[in-house]
Amino acid sequence: MKKIFIFTVFTLSVTLAYSQAKYVFLFIGDGMGFGAVTLTEDYLAAQNAEAVGSGTLTFSTFPSAGFSTTYSASSLVTCSSASGTAFACGSKTRNGRLGVNEDVTESFTSIAYRLKEKGYKVGITTSVSIDHATPAAFYAHQPSRSMYYEVAQDLAKSGFDFFSGAGLLSPQGNEGLQENVFDLIAENGYTVVRSLADCQSSTAPKLLLLQPESKPQKAYPYVIDKSSDDYTLAQTTTLAIEKLQNSKGFFLLVEGGKIDWASHSNDAGSMVREVVDLSDAVKVALEFYRKYPKQTLIVVTADHETGGLGVGSGEGGDIGIQGLERQKASEERLTQELEKTISYSELKVWLAENMGITISYSDEVALRSLFATSAESAPATDDTPCTLKSTETLTKGIMRIVSAKNGGSYSTFGHTGTMVPVYAIGEGSELFRGKIDNTDIPKKIAKAAKVEWK
Ligand SMILES: [Zn+2]
Repeated sequence: MKKIFIFTVFTLSVTLAYSQAKYVFLFIGDGMGFGAVTLTEDYLAAQNAEAVGSGTLTFSTFPSAGFSTTYSASSLVTCSSASGTAFACGSKTRNGRLGVNEDVTESFTSIAYRLKEKGYKVGITTSVSIDHATPAAFYAHQPSRSMYYEVAQDLAKSGFDFFSGAGLLSPQGNEGLQENVFDLIAENGYTVVRSLADCQSSTAPKLLLLQPESKPQKAYPYVIDKSSDDYTLAQTTTLAIEKLQNSKGFFLLVEGGKIDWASHSNDAGSMVREVVDLSDAVKVALEFYRKYPKQTLIVVTADHETGGLGVGSGEGGDIGIQGLERQKASEERLTQELEKTISYSELKVWLAENMGITISYSDEVALRSLFATSAESAPATDDTPCTLKSTETLTKGIMRIVSAKNGGSYSTFGHTGTMVPVYAIGEGSELFRGKIDNTDIPKKIAKAAKVEWK
């Protein structure tokens, strides 16, 4: 009996000794609410000609699931910097603040710094610029999220091991007169690489993987518009794991930043492909988890919902989800088209070819009116070439029509205050069940990692 007792205690202590989330992945779908997840799963089922309700994302079958609040200290509807601060640092702040309290008298310490202090390596990965609000909430402390130069200075001083994203928005300040922040980044021991191959072959201890300078530095292209040489989140996640893996553990943030951007434009066809891109990156983490199931924690959530997306267009019955597959271009490509001189007839042809829609009589009324009010001067005929004085209203109006035809009905072009889903698998994943406040997310990660939150 005594032997059994000693054996049990020994086994238990060994188990406990290894029950620590040593490899932590946090995936953030920026703007990814329940509507975005549901519509993407419906899109996947339709794409594979499978039964309604059978589409699944990598993370939606994780054993632990819950939902998180998103409100900030100043509003029911948060912005990405306030919500980023909440789930990076464990404290609410007002919209616009980054890693600091409401009146900017206190700098918060993010989960990334806390784990770094315990010997974990840290990686920050996004599909937009690295100085954008969500990734920046893990390393920066600034009164305003739009202080991109100062945010990049904080990046240089963070000591984190791996960054990847499109680029930096303001490397020489808003006026272009400041010392190039890439010099400061280099002085702090970072090597900047601008291709996946250079990243792979680099042995530098601290890396920034950015897009080539010939590409936009503000974001990766939308998945729907991508060329074969554009990065995917799965590729950068794979490289991040390679660079971060070590015996003391790592923390890796992966943000799908353009789920939010597509949703701001009410572009459901682009949005679902961005969610799939994030899901593919989660699959890479899941393969890692299968090798180290007792030491890995994967959490997938969102910072807020964007667009007030409902599934269904109010016409009942068939919601036309198959149409999402026929969409071949994003709102960004539509904007580029509208920036050229274009007639109303040419626009309709372009929409049929690239958005895969047929304009109905009622759409025609709305579209014609939007086109006429956006034109420098009202066109004489449908074939009159026009220059548009602004493209934003027309682009958003068109995308709302396109999305509604394909089952995505939006209620706003902004964020909403609804709760967002949380999914988790691995060591400590049971902590992420039920209703969670967004400030508890980093504290739960710390608990799983056996790091005291003070
Ligand atoms: Zn947004």
